[in-house]
Amino acid sequence: MDEQLPEPLDVIAVGAHPDDVEIGCGGSVARLVDQGLRVGIVDLTDGEPTPRSSGPEQRLAEARAAAAVLGVVHREQLGFPNRRLFDGFEVRVALAKVFRRFRPRLVLGLGDKTPLASPDHAQAVAITEAAVFYSRLTKWDDTFDGLPVHTVPNLLCYFLFAGVADLPAAHWPIVVNIHGLLDRKLEAIRCYASQFPPEKAHIYPRVEALAHTVGLMGGCEAGELLAGSRIPCTNDLTGLLLEV
Ligand SMILES: [Zn+2]
Repeated sequence: MDEQLPEPLDVIAVGAHPDDVEIGCGGSVARLVDQGLRVGIVDLTDGEPTPRSSGPEQRLAEARAAAAVLGVVHREQLGFPNRRLFDGFEVRVALAKVFRRFRPRLVLGLGDKTPLASPDHAQAVAITEAAVFYSRLTKWDDTFDGLPVHTVPNLLCYFLFAGVADLPAAHWPIVVNIHGLLDRKLEAIRCYASQFPPEKAHIYPRVEALAHTVGLMGGCEAGELLAGSRIPCTNDLTGLLLEV
């Protein structure tokens, strides 16, 4: 089986829709790519239909363009239905198969409900957590087409717009310094012309304002908030404190 597996990805970022990863953690993804890591993106749905898009093909082309801007080496869509994404066995297994195939060391997943936006995001929180667990379970080969188990050692969540104050229970925040990468993050979001036409251009100053607010919280010029259920641990305190 091993020889059939693709080259591993260091990091996989998971979104409910194409554009979630860009908005929530596009700067962090760009940072990891620039550090030489192999990063992939998984979109659980195609994000369609939406009011101004011509259809899934346009959204797919936009997602590919955004992936190129960020420098990710792999992007795939799992094809579950937008607007009707529900945590369930099938989608958990489908995502866990991606983790088993690409063996990431870090998964970035959605972390919050979005009460005034799509309920798919909250479902994706549960789906991603479950898939990380399913990825490492033995004695389940028939369910996973014989793919070897893979333990994902780190799961961090990212946030869409509501996330500055509302961390999930028992989660610890981390600010990723994205100074110098904010323009690239905005360029990746701009690839989604169908989602953010001129009348919705207010997203760009909002993304910038959030980055500066989070940066202020973390002591850098621009930041993205991530959070994990483990307290951050380091054997390089000076590196942790002095790199920003
Ligand atoms: Zn979304």
